[in-house]
Amino acid sequence: MKIGTKCVQAGYTPGNGESRQLPIIQSTTFKYADSDAMGRLFDLEDTGYFYTRLQNPTCDGAAAKLAALEGGVGAILTSSGQAANFFACFNICEAGDHMISVPNIYGGTFNLFAVTFKKMGIDVTFVDMEASEAEIAAAFRPNTKLVFGEVLTNPGVRVLDIEKFARVAHAHGVPLIVDNTFPTPVNCRPIEFGADIVTHSTTKYLDGQGVAVGGAVVDGGTFDWMAHADKYPGLCTPDASYHGLTYAVKFGKAAYLTKLTTHLMRDFGAMPSPQNAFYLHLGMQTLHVRMRQHCESALKVARFLQDCPQVKWIAYPDLERDPMYARARHYMPGGSCGVMALALNGDRAQTVRFMDALRLVTIETHVADCHTCILHPASHTHRQLSDEQLRDAGVDPGLIRLSIGLEDADDLIADLKQALDATF
Ligand SMILES: *Cc1c(COP(=O)(O)O)cnc(C)c1O
Repeated sequence: MKIGTKCVQAGYTPGNGESRQLPIIQSTTFKYADSDAMGRLFDLEDTGYFYTRLQNPTCDGAAAKLAALEGGVGAILTSSGQAANFFACFNICEAGDHMISVPNIYGGTFNLFAVTFKKMGIDVTFVDMEASEAEIAAAFRPNTKLVFGEVLTNPGVRVLDIEKFARVAHAHGVPLIVDNTFPTPVNCRPIEFGADIVTHSTTKYLDGQGVAVGGAVVDGGTFDWMAHADKYPGLCTPDASYHGLTYAVKFGKAAYLTKLTTHLMRDFGAMPSPQNAFYLHLGMQTLHVRMRQHCESALKVARFLQDCPQVKWIAYPDLERDPMYARARHYMPGGSCGVMALALNGDRAQTVRFMDALRLVTIETHVADCHTCILHPASHTHRQLSDEQLRDAGVDPGLIRLSIGLEDADDLIADLKQALDATF
């Protein structure tokens, strides 16, 4: 079936007389008739629900839809995108291990890798997105456990060459994990290009209305853990905390997600509420229609902005003159997303005046939902840094992140135009 049909129907299939919409099972726990039935669940001998920190039918319904959209063997929802990226890596990486990431990733993820993982004893080497395969290969160590990238980077909207990073990762016997938040599976399905595990901040387009913070980890089921058993003892050797079972042997393609549930969810929590999983599921039902509109409107706005004399540069990979255009068409033939980055031909003060002059476009610490919003890292997320420090961090002091929502594009263009005219 096509992606739009999966958006509407995949995941939850009601039986006779059951609710058409995914029901909200707002319950912490589930009842059993005898002690042995529940004991078998704890031994992982039977599958079933017993406590919502580990599994809940509403969360599973939404996760199943996302797994179907990405073409994965399964998915697990988390309480946020941050938790998703943490779990995706920490499930196969521990103190004394090493991983490789590109540096062009969401600021929160960069901090998780560069600061928090370091404190936990996991070393991260950052390799330029445009590095050659030989340069990426040179970053590998005997204890390297994974390679990480963002399909469409936040905030720069650069396109990851998924196939290049997958080739090098697989040549070294490790999986490629990618964050697919911005394109969503409607515009890019990274597993088809060689990624093994896909993460999401569902807070963005998947929710789409800006109502629920959430995340997800999707497993493509493509990585053969047992073929690299020495690297992944957590999956490939007997687990004493579960009567000596070996995940990769007992659960096959479900091994990675089963371990993520039974270890990380058990020990760290970070599960979403059933209510939030319901909102996510509701949002995904219209994802294909919304993404089409986000892309169409964003391209119209980007074409307007690229010809404005007040605009110094604009990055939007669906613009023909963007250096990422050809790569974006390969990985995202139907369009990238609604987010673009740009800078004005002015100083910091002028950029701020422009933003303050906007009436319809709102200033928000958010991105990728139905409301058009704008953020100036130098004034907001990176406020403490000087212009020089900003440049060192790879952020142009004038960089503005503009996220095109679902309002009429002509109204957005009129608002941007009046604010530019009022500023310059
Ligand atoms: C927002 C975002 C995150 C973090 O997600 P939260 O839901 O805010 O925790 C991670 N990756 C990308 C690409 C994001 O845009």
